[in-house]
Amino acid sequence: MGILKFKKANCKNCYKCVRNCPVKAIQVIDQQAQIVEEDCILCGRCTVVCPQNAKEDVSSLQEIRQLLASGREVVAAVAPSFTAYFDGCDWQMFSAAMKQLGFSQVFETAEGAFLVKSEYEKLLASGIEGPVITTCCSSINQYIRKYMPEAIPFMAPVTTPLRAVTRLIHQRCPGAAVVFLSPCISKKTETVPQGCTDGPDYDLTFDELEDWMRESGIHVNKAFASSDAKLSRMFPVTGGILRTMKTEAGWRYLAVDGMEDCIQAIRDAVDGKLKRCFIEVSACEGSCVGGPAFLKRDRRVAVSSAVVQTSAVDNEGSDFEVDETVDLESVLTARPVYRPEPSAEQLQNVLRRMGKTKPEDELNCGMCGYATCREKAHAVFLGRADITMCLPYMQAKAESYSDKIVSVSPNAIVTVGRDLKVKQINEAACEIFSIRNREDIIGYPVSRILDEFDFVRMLSGDGRQIQNYTYLSDYNVYLEQVFICDEDKEIVTCIMKDVTRSRQKKNQIRQVKLRTAGMADEIVEKQMRIAHEIASLLGETVAETKVAVNNLKNTILMDEDKDEQR
Ligand code: SF4
Ligand code: SF4
Ligand code: SF4
Repeated sequence: MGILKFKKANCKNCYKCVRNCPVKAIQVIDQQAQIVEEDCILCGRCTVVCPQNAKEDVSSLQEIRQLLASGREVVAAVAPSFTAYFDGCDWQMFSAAMKQLGFSQVFETAEGAFLVKSEYEKLLASGIEGPVITTCCSSINQYIRKYMPEAIPFMAPVTTPLRAVTRLIHQRCPGAAVVFLSPCISKKTETVPQGCTDGPDYDLTFDELEDWMRESGIHVNKAFASSDAKLSRMFPVTGGILRTMKTEAGWRYLAVDGMEDCIQAIRDAVDGKLKRCFIEVSACEGSCVGGPAFLKRDRRVAVSSAVVQTSAVDNEGSDFEVDETVDLESVLTARPVYRPEPSAEQLQNVLRRMGKTKPEDELNCGMCGYATCREKAHAVFLGRADITMCLPYMQAKAESYSDKIVSVSPNAIVTVGRDLKVKQINEAACEIFSIRNREDIIGYPVSRILDEFDFVRMLSGDGRQIQNYTYLSDYNVYLEQVFICDEDKEIVTCIMKDVTRSRQKKNQIRQVKLRTAGMADEIVEKQMRIAHEIASLLGETVAETKVAVNNLKNTILMDEDKDEQR
């Protein structure tokens, strides 16, 4: 059963999880980060750093509720960091709250820690040479099993406090189911469903428990009230194991935290550099109180360590007393992770596909999540990473692609920076402005070829696009211009279409039209004149005829009058 689940839709490909995963147990497939379960050591870093909260641990709350409802006795074992997580709550108050949730009895894992540290003391007193590596951290144990099995002979052959207390509970409450309450997801690897037969039945992290308590209306007092200190409660802070132990002459005691430092210390122990050293290692900085559950709920290491110390240390150095005999022996079994190594040629091939053909192409910038380009190439070889995860590669590819588009574009393109100097110019633009080499204008003020007015307008105004039509008399060209700029107003690009020929054609047609219109006017005028002349001639003739007819009529009438008088 998977312990960390992955919320597919949330992943935004920032590779922060890959960058922070100490064992690179994350693969990116189809633009989605996924945990490779068999490689993961459950350090939980990816859950803390993911800005999208894309990963979350699989909760066993449902099963625990069913267990409580089944009538079987269910007891809780509680990690000693509870007091820091629940802001100084004391043991009496906390165990009372757990009983309200339905647990029949509540035990402190610190009791198991007491048994374990007593075993360490016996081990060092037995005359062994060391070094001895010891940890309560399941992530470190997983790391050694999977990635550095050669360190197993140096591990103290003692079980973890969690399993020690589980064995103790099984002796005290035969038949009871055990639920472990802790701040750490890696402890889930020590449970029965994960194949750990001597571990608790289920594990619930403090953040899951806190949600459950809130939902059930159960609260604990935040003030630390108990005077009942127990030294073995110091285990969850850095150096806490060492603080509980009696020291043995001739031994040096070291506490190391943080995954990278732990890996180094374990390596040094294996390499024989830490003779007669008793080394306490914890994957999280600050140990358990610096773990993912604490960080996700904004608990600080120093404050949490101080609270734990308050619950653990008194003037007498009081500690648990355990009468029962518990079998504490445990030896890690190796379960090495197999990752095939590519041959030099295979690696070179991948590097070539990644655009890394020369040493200077290998930027080792870490943006893909891998420390070096070769590490990333190895991940590509394993099918864990995609070539496109390299930002410099994608940028170079996009730039060369856009360069290609710009250079072959039939439109003239000029790009100008905030300093109003030309950054880029294509061949079509060079042709318009009679520039023989692009270098003759790149880096020089754009005013050498174009009026800078519209560039200034774009850089200083609110708009993201201006369209223009202009005539450049120096070049005798008509241009349709579109100015666009980027979001940050750092770059303005002017795309120009040379419309001189169509403009000239239009002018010619207009001239022809004007001439035709002029001719038409002349013809009309001439026609009018002729018509007028004809009309006036006709008018004259008619008038003359009229006069003649009148004269004739008068003459006839005069002749008639004369006849009558006669
Ligand atoms: S941290 Fe990982 S899982 Fe989260 S968004 Fe980034 S790539 Fe995706
Ligand atoms: S839990 Fe740790 S080891 Fe596992 S994938 Fe996340 S960062 Fe890597
Ligand atoms: S250059 Fe690319 S492959 Fe190399 S480290 Fe940076 S992002 Fe990763």
